[in-house]
Amino acid sequence: MLNTDVVDELVESTWQDELIRELSDYIEIPALSPNFDPDWADHGHLAAAIDHVFAWVSKQPIVGMTARIAHLPERTPVIVAEIPAFGESASTGDGTVLLYGHCDKQPEMVGWDADLGPWKPVLRDGRLYGRGGADDGYAAYASLTAIRAVQEAGGSHPRCVLLIEASEESGSPDLPAHVDALAESMGDVRLVVCLDSGCADYETLWLTSSLRGMVGTTVTAEVLTEGVHSGGASGIVPSSFRVMRQLLDRIEDAGTGAVLLDSANQEIPAYRVAEAVAMAEYLGADGEPFPFAAGVAPMATGPEALLNKTWRPTVSYVGAAGMPEPGQAGNVLRPSTSLKLSLRLPPEADADSVVRELTDVLTTDPPYNARVSVGAFESANGWNAPDLSPWLGTALQSASQRSYGAPLQLMGEGGSIPFMGMLGEKFPTAQFAVMGVLGPESNAHGPNEFLHLDYAEKLTQVLASLLNDAAVGIAA
Ligand SMILES: [Zn+2]
Repeated sequence: MLNTDVVDELVESTWQDELIRELSDYIEIPALSPNFDPDWADHGHLAAAIDHVFAWVSKQPIVGMTARIAHLPERTPVIVAEIPAFGESASTGDGTVLLYGHCDKQPEMVGWDADLGPWKPVLRDGRLYGRGGADDGYAAYASLTAIRAVQEAGGSHPRCVLLIEASEESGSPDLPAHVDALAESMGDVRLVVCLDSGCADYETLWLTSSLRGMVGTTVTAEVLTEGVHSGGASGIVPSSFRVMRQLLDRIEDAGTGAVLLDSANQEIPAYRVAEAVAMAEYLGADGEPFPFAAGVAPMATGPEALLNKTWRPTVSYVGAAGMPEPGQAGNVLRPSTSLKLSLRLPPEADADSVVRELTDVLTTDPPYNARVSVGAFESANGWNAPDLSPWLGTALQSASQRSYGAPLQLMGEGGSIPFMGMLGEKFPTAQFAVMGVLGPESNAHGPNEFLHLDYAEKLTQVLASLLNDAAVGIAA
């Protein structure tokens, strides 16, 4: 029998005495994901992050654990820890629980408060600020602490494999090769635990029911070989910016933000609409807090807002080139305009089809025969969770009540975790527990990212209960 008092005590003391310090050191490592640091191998920051996490992993007093760093040529490494089934109830199962996380990070971004910074850990009001603590450095620490707690509290758990990768923020390009190479270690995956997701508040346990897919690329419209006087040329030479506007009108309704690509739209299942209605009711009139500038109105509110960010496609313009800063800008008709597009896709849209349609739409018959090109694509399919099996629903519900004193809530997530779609295809009968600490204002990818320590600690308790229940659950 799992002694939950022992679990809670061990989880609390490990977080307070050890994990805050480990994660603070981890935050200091500028381990940008490969897309943001193509010379990552020479710079060594990703290796430093992997080594830092691995040093802690490998010294955990977990019965039977073997851990290693797995390398493949030209790819970022992964940490793999295998833990055999443990405890009385776990004798039958040969099924595996896969616990996933990543230790590559998003770039710095601007806008950090004066006393904060991406590579500067700051502990304040129960929040650990800095890049990568919440997204997703804590996952390895929380996962193994939960396993250790189960063992020391007299519980049982199935065979577990911890997999920590280092290319997630680039769309996990290196992961499929590792998963193939590790097929034997992975075994028969029946439950996937992913701690890289979000929560809509910090008051209860939030389970992710879907993730959006994504497609990103840079589009360039070129009209001149060099800049020319705008007085002498405008009216004859078409503006590359106006060409770009026309191209964008092909993919997005400028009035509503609706994405016009057929391949990027899907009908929303009725049960997910009902889920959004329930979530909007739970969250109340205020909805999610965003740092709106004074007076700015949201595109939608209530369930429509939730469906917009979880089941509808959107396009964001996340970077630009070909334009000087306003203070340096002369009256010049510029040679070209480039924009980096970031599309979010409905959970079941096919990202490859979107890539093809987007390329076609942008490059076919361009205005004024301008030279239009699209750069390399980043793409990932979304994911729609399979129906919760009864044991998993019960396990999560009771863990939520115990640790948070409130019922489990389901939510669609607007972001992407490419690996979930891959795993869904690879292990079609697996159950998924996708959860996370990225709640209001935690601002992963932006400035002032923080890890909400109380939520993380409770989530670690939840994971211990879940693994204990899985000892019986996944064997059934
Ligand atoms: Zn992440």
